[in-house]
Amino acid sequence: MSTEPISLLGIPLDANSSFMFGCAGGPAAIRAALHSTSGNDATEASVNVTPQLDDLGDLGITNEPGSRGDADVITTAVRAQVAAGRQIISLGGDHSVTFPILRAIGEVHDDLTVVHIDAHPDIYDDLDGNPLSHASPFARALEAGCMTTLVQLGIRTATRHQVEQGERWDVTMVSPRQLASFDPSALTGPIYLSIDLDGLDPSCAPGVSHHEPGGLTVREVLDVIDSLPGPLVGADVVELNPTRDVVDMTAMVAAKLVKEIAGAMLARR
Ligand code: MN
Ligand code: MN
Repeated sequence: MSTEPISLLGIPLDANSSFMFGCAGGPAAIRAALHSTSGNDATEASVNVTPQLDDLGDLGITNEPGSRGDADVITTAVRAQVAAGRQIISLGGDHSVTFPILRAIGEVHDDLTVVHIDAHPDIYDDLDGNPLSHASPFARALEAGCMTTLVQLGIRTATRHQVEQGERWDVTMVSPRQLASFDPSALTGPIYLSIDLDGLDPSCAPGVSHHEPGGLTVREVLDVIDSLPGPLVGADVVELNPTRDVVDMTAMVAAKLVKEIAGAMLARR
């Protein structure tokens, strides 16, 4: 079993957002919540995870819209961690970061399952002429063959176009209403987990650019994380927009998810 720490990588990128900016401040806000002395390092399973996180800091990127150079910087950074045998948790940034991350993860796993929690499917073929938009990362990743299975949880605003895209790529979309009858433990690994915080209900995660009522509870997301069969090779927590947050509550939710993801990574290597 690997004794490597888990790599934590900040990606302060919000130029590929379609509605408003602010997610570039996400990594700093999540770190502040993660290290807040209001809590301690223990997960719900009483594992002290934060000492096992190796924080690599934030990536140096230009944060220009549609930047292929920035995407390459992300892929290269993740590829280095994978090559070192590390599991990696990335902190967004808008959701555009997930395609370049998955390029690197998909290179070494030919049977990757991606579990994606979000209000939105993010599989637009094209939105506003930016192929790297945060509305399209899973379209790009599917086209590139980064995964064999994509399961999306919490989806509650798929347009007709996105439903057709999902059918085209054989994507499983699970709405909040359907979540109780979905069994994450039946998934096969290796697994990559991508959490867009707007998948949660805005009442518990208001610090996002796109409020979509009727979302998941923190407990439902924690239960999904706990139910994933291993190994969990990588994860991201994205779309925290601190300019929209209320008393840092969404940052604290994001930090809690990071801790529990790390716990799941360590428990099922
Ligand atoms: Mn979303
Ligand atoms: Mn998203």
